[in-house]
Amino acid sequence: MAQQRTVVEQGNSGLGKQAGRVRFAKRTDRMKASEIREILKLMAQPDFISFAGGIPDPDLFPVEEVRIATERVLQQSFRTALQYAPTEGYGPLREWIAAYMNETFGLGLEGADVLITSGSQQGLDLIGKLLLDEGDVVLCESPTYLGAIQAFQPYNPRFIEIETDNDGMIPESLESTLAAYPEAKLLYAVPNYQNPTGRTWSLERRKRVMEIAARYAVTVVEDDPYGELRFEGDRLPPLQAFDQQGQVMYLGSFSKVLCPGYRVGWTAAPKVYLEKMVLAKQGVDLHTSSINQMIIYEMLQQQSLSAYVSRLIGTYKERRDAMAGVLREKLPELKFQLPQGGLFLWGELPEQWNCRTLLENGVQHKIAFVPGGSFYPNGGHEHTMRLNYSLSDEQRIREGVGRLAALIHSTQA
Ligand code: PMP
Repeated sequence: MAQQRTVVEQGNSGLGKQAGRVRFAKRTDRMKASEIREILKLMAQPDFISFAGGIPDPDLFPVEEVRIATERVLQQSFRTALQYAPTEGYGPLREWIAAYMNETFGLGLEGADVLITSGSQQGLDLIGKLLLDEGDVVLCESPTYLGAIQAFQPYNPRFIEIETDNDGMIPESLESTLAAYPEAKLLYAVPNYQNPTGRTWSLERRKRVMEIAARYAVTVVEDDPYGELRFEGDRLPPLQAFDQQGQVMYLGSFSKVLCPGYRVGWTAAPKVYLEKMVLAKQGVDLHTSSINQMIIYEMLQQQSLSAYVSRLIGTYKERRDAMAGVLREKLPELKFQLPQGGLFLWGELPEQWNCRTLLENGVQHKIAFVPGGSFYPNGGHEHTMRLNYSLSDEQRIREGVGRLAALIHSTQA
């Protein structure tokens, strides 16, 4: 085929000329790049040690298992794998997820109760689209996952933070807030190894929160991408296990137990929600990548995913212990609780500290973290920070905590 080239005279294309003239929708005013992201971009050089990202260690990815599963899918099912597919997701994968959740948590789900999404982040976006009108009240943990704030923010809701402690959301705080805002639309929660605090809700709290939520027509969004990454203790049932009213939408993900690059997650929810969510998703991306869903299903069939997760847990636990050990040794003024799983450790300096300023100075020490204030939708709490331990090996963790300690000890609070 003859190659056609369109020749555009340099400088004549119009690219970059519209600034200030485009009539963007008002909601885009609320889509702001966080200033932290900008600082962190500067820190993405190899000699920096970053405890900022919330990402898995790529050196641990199960490349060989992925290669075998991919070849098998292409050999056996390329016609389906490379084709358009139903919005709801790949049937066998939906069935597998329902069966897994039933077996693990004693739920009564069917494949039809599961919608495959492009990451659980898409689930959050679709839920915002389905449920939020301007000014609606969203209840969340204080602090909460930044990506959920970003997903809901364009709909201009009002975020009301519910107090938390080391056992999770405080029921009395939820109770009084719901009494004040009985029309609240959403209760958003990350009960396992929360991003950003690494905290896990106790069994008692899970039950109490659901008892309270059941008295209101509030939709509970339970976001659980880290649940499988438990280092010790028993796995606790999800909020969905205590749902008598059909008000919980559970979000799961393969990002942290396999690879985020696949962009495969799911929402398990009552049909009344899922039917509308499917319609919303159709308009967004028609469906989640067919081949990615099929590769994941193949890996689940080969049991290679569970073996990988066991390896991950072992490594992350060692890294958590390494970080905790060096922090105790070198930075006793940073208070933290040992997370029982997940990727994050939450640190609190004495109240007079400002971790945003600290991060700016981190450039000189080549160390990055996320200032905790970013995770509070209504601001404040600038003396806190989120530290990630999944990405760096033990040696870098040691070195990084050393730099953090040097940064703090050379800075005036
Ligand atoms: N929820 C929480 C609490 C998260 O931490 C993340 C990832 N950082 C997500 C959702 C989104 O995950 P994904 O879209 O990759 O499934």
